[in-house]
Amino acid sequence: MRARVLVTTRAGGRSAPPYDENNLALHVGDDPDVVAANRQRLGGELGVDRVRFMHQVHGAAVAIADATTDGDVPDADALVTTTRGLAIAVLVADCVPIALVSRRAIAVVHAGRRGLVEGIVSAAVDAIHRYDEGPVAATVGAAICGGCYEVPADMQAEVAGVVPAAKATTATGTPGLDLPAAVRSQLRDAGVDVTNESAPCTREDPRYYSHRRDGVTGRFALVAMLEP
Ligand SMILES: [Zn+2]
Repeated sequence: MRARVLVTTRAGGRSAPPYDENNLALHVGDDPDVVAANRQRLGGELGVDRVRFMHQVHGAAVAIADATTDGDVPDADALVTTTRGLAIAVLVADCVPIALVSRRAIAVVHAGRRGLVEGIVSAAVDAIHRYDEGPVAATVGAAICGGCYEVPADMQAEVAGVVPAAKATTATGTPGLDLPAAVRSQLRDAGVDVTNESAPCTREDPRYYSHRRDGVTGRFALVAMLEP
């Protein structure tokens, strides 16, 4: 079974500033009808009626999606499915989006600072292994880099105490967090093969939304689907 993974950019949707153009999130103050149209367009690109999103809460809960979970959006930070042709998505604007792909199951994961500490990455890998004990591969999408993500020293110490790879120094020499490096480290510890060694930094690359750079802004998506 083959999986498709794609990461959207700001380009191509109907959202007006400051959400321009392809905002896919309903919780950031954008016009819901416009967001619905942007989501519809994304589904069209994948050849599906709709894309399944989560209500992300910066926790470590994993939800299962199948053809019957059509209506409700679960409170979760990872979404797993074994259903072919079901497109699942994670929304971000600096946090780390991850796709996990095994032969029989896929997951999308939202890993921010809090989720990382609470263990969302290993929880999602464990959830995949409930359906498939075989190898798991990960794609890590665009996220804020360690050079751009300044945090107070005590916050850095807290996160690096859980994931040492998170410790970074920003471009201006202050304490920082490298969330993508931390995610890659946790994935490898969980036995996952990370397929891409780097991804763009959302704060530096204007193709992506960045909450740190822009404040009020939209969200882009990482979408995964087992081919029908
Ligand atoms: Zn950066």
